[in-house]
Amino acid sequence: MLFHRPASRLADLLEQQLVTWIFATVCDFLASRSYLIAVRGLVEQFESFYDEDLPAFTRVEDLLQHAKLYDLTQKQLKDVLEQANISPLLMDELLTAIVRINYGQSLTISGLAGAIGLCGSGADLWAVDGGNRQVPEGLLRKAGAIVHLGEGVEIVRRVEGGKYDVITRHGDSEQFDVVVIATPLDEGALQLEPPIALPARKLQHTHTTFVVGCVDHKFFNLSRESDLPDTIATMENPTIPFSSIGLLMRFENGDGAFKVFSRQRPSEELLDKMFRRRLETIRIDWAAYPLYKTPEEFAPFLLDDHHLYYVNAFENAASTVETMAVAAKNVAKLIVKRLSDRTQHRHNVASTMDLSSDSSYELKSEL
Ligand SMILES: Cc1cc2nc3c(=O)[nH]c(=O)nc-3n(C[C@H](O)[C@H](O)[C@H](O)COP(=O)(O)OP(=O)(O)OC[C@H]3O[C@@H](n4cnc5c(N)ncnc54)[C@H](O)[C@@H]3O)c2cc1C
Repeated sequence: MLFHRPASRLADLLEQQLVTWIFATVCDFLASRSYLIAVRGLVEQFESFYDEDLPAFTRVEDLLQHAKLYDLTQKQLKDVLEQANISPLLMDELLTAIVRINYGQSLTISGLAGAIGLCGSGADLWAVDGGNRQVPEGLLRKAGAIVHLGEGVEIVRRVEGGKYDVITRHGDSEQFDVVVIATPLDEGALQLEPPIALPARKLQHTHTTFVVGCVDHKFFNLSRESDLPDTIATMENPTIPFSSIGLLMRFENGDGAFKVFSRQRPSEELLDKMFRRRLETIRIDWAAYPLYKTPEEFAPFLLDDHHLYYVNAFENAASTVETMAVAAKNVAKLIVKRLSDRTQHRHNVASTMDLSSDSSYELKSEL
């Protein structure tokens, strides 16, 4: 860790509150630390989500209980770490910085979201060569799915005969037997008719600012540009105007592409101080993940008594690509089970009434 001599009020603040480190080195350091061992122990249970005989659940709580992870959603990460005898210094200077990078929040988030976020700080992170986008692209190709890009859904309306009208913002409409909502319903993403009451949930907005240019080492009170680390992480203090700065790539002329995370939109003035040269700036205000609070409450996977499903109910447990894949698999299994149960029921009724040859009773049980 590097601490630097102040030259201004901001630098003074930085000296007291800001911890800068070279991330790759820290990752190696972390791998051997007690907190990671403690955290890994906590999420070992996660493996049970991959059990072959894992049942399909209609409630998030039941899926989490099955994996013995529910209790971790009811208490704060800070308390979990204290129970694991992690030192306050490590929590304040290092673990807080990691949680600020991964969830833009503090150690008050739930133990489960926090533990999963901290697991993502080791040296064993990976990305698909050529871009992670190839994963959903490949899955969609394999499923033979028809994707309508740029057609936001505005309304999902339950209609007579147990079907759903899905109505887009352009006013186009189509009917479906089953609807799976795979985006957070908070912030009015789409309208359900009739409305369905869900536990109130706020989202943490992470302002992501991509900058091509040069970080100003003087802003961090460093005497040479070469002293700048690739990742700058911060401690919890409301006066620090950003959560992290990460170098994404370095160009031949010495410029870099940087990613700045912050809880508020960084002003032009602030960016001008942080970067001595800015060739390009791209801003994204991401409604990124739930604003975690304990005890967590969960919306159900099954939103009505029919076939309206909600994958992102699971995001209160932890929002990651993998947790959402676990939730999506649960919903897919649930649909198959409920449709085949219904088919079975109809066949039973049909055979009682000697209608088994009627093809309208056949339902596809493979999705
Ligand atoms: C800045 C940032 C960094 C992150 N880093 C990581 C990381 O390193 N590792 C990790 O595992 N996770 C990371 N996450 C979290 C991860 O991205 C999410 O958990 C994951 O993308 C959630 O997947 P999802 O399919 O549920 O939702 P999303 O990926 O959000 O997909 C929802 C889709 O629904 C679409 N949509 C929304 N509304 C409508 C509508 N009305 N009609 C039609 N379509 C609609 C959206 O356009 C979007 O394509 C990060 C998140 C952010 C914001």
